[in-house]
Amino acid sequence: MATDLRISLTDLCSLRCTYCMPAEGLPWLSQRERLTDAEFVRLASVFVALGVTSVRLTGGEPLVHPGVVSVVERLRALEPAPEISLTTNGVTLERHARKLADAGLSRINVSLDTLDRERFARLTRRDRLPAVLAGLAAAADAGLAPLKVNTVLVRGENLDEAPALLGWALRHGYDLRFIEHMPLDADHTWTRADMVTAEEMLDLVGATYALRPRAERLSAPAEDFDVVDGPDRASWAVPVGRVGVIASVTRPFCRDCDRLRLTADGQLRTCLFAQHETDLRAPLRAGATDTELAELIRAAVAGKQAGHGIGAQGFVQPTRTMSAIGG
Ligand code: SAM
Ligand code: SF4
Repeated sequence: MATDLRISLTDLCSLRCTYCMPAEGLPWLSQRERLTDAEFVRLASVFVALGVTSVRLTGGEPLVHPGVVSVVERLRALEPAPEISLTTNGVTLERHARKLADAGLSRINVSLDTLDRERFARLTRRDRLPAVLAGLAAAADAGLAPLKVNTVLVRGENLDEAPALLGWALRHGYDLRFIEHMPLDADHTWTRADMVTAEEMLDLVGATYALRPRAERLSAPAEDFDVVDGPDRASWAVPVGRVGVIASVTRPFCRDCDRLRLTADGQLRTCLFAQHETDLRAPLRAGATDTELAELIRAAVAGKQAGHGIGAQGFVQPTRTMSAIGG
């Protein structure tokens, strides 16, 4: 059984990243369609009883969900207590960091694609870079370590900034991970020919920094490297830095992937690229027992597709976009 569950707390978001959402946003779920906090916690308790040990809250933007702190607290109170982490765009992290840490959050990933304010405003269609940087500082202050920063590299947008982003992360002691752009964007701008591959990312960063592959993968999707030397070595906050690449497209890790995803409207997905979802909301609202819900989950996991098939002829992008699935 899978051990890693991602819960998309909301499909709403405070940014409009060009590789994720259209400028005008998406047709949002209605309040009635979204699970309530009690429903999220009830379903999570069934997953935990089935062996899930780690729950990541995501979205949309999980910090625009009003009940996020209390959800963390209630998930931590499940038995056996899962580890709770969260992926955020960081815009309102400054005022949430301490409360989240106090509620029992263990780790946080902040998505940040550029350190240039104008570029940030263009990429996310919102001028919020200072807020994100303040959020990162607040998370570090609150002890939410190790802080991970996720960066999607897009040709013609921020690719040239990759070495500078790594230098910045090393100075602050953050773990940086570069992510390949995946065909999950609402505007359907992704093309295989144009996307930046992990190989290209590593060549670019490796021209400035000495990288040594780590013997084992620290987390399933990322290939991790120790950063052992670089031109700004004296300014690093860490003795040896770390950088990772998440190469979902060019180096798929489907065989090792045991992630499950629960959408904000209670649909279970066993793969980001799945065409099929298992509805848990309808049975939940119709009064299903824990055993009945567990049976539905087990059947969905048993039917998980073997691979995402992005490279295959006839690959069809799922209707749900990244922000509606929960990346
Ligand atoms: N809003 C939060 C955030 O941005 O961190 C959480 C949800 S967001 C969908 C989760 C992650 O997915 C972010 O790191 C974002 O950069 C990444 N992402 C979004 N669209 C993507 C795409 N088409 N390909 C690859 N990564 C994507
Ligand atoms: Fe929002 Fe995250 Fe998508 Fe950006 S990547 S639009 S922050 S959900």
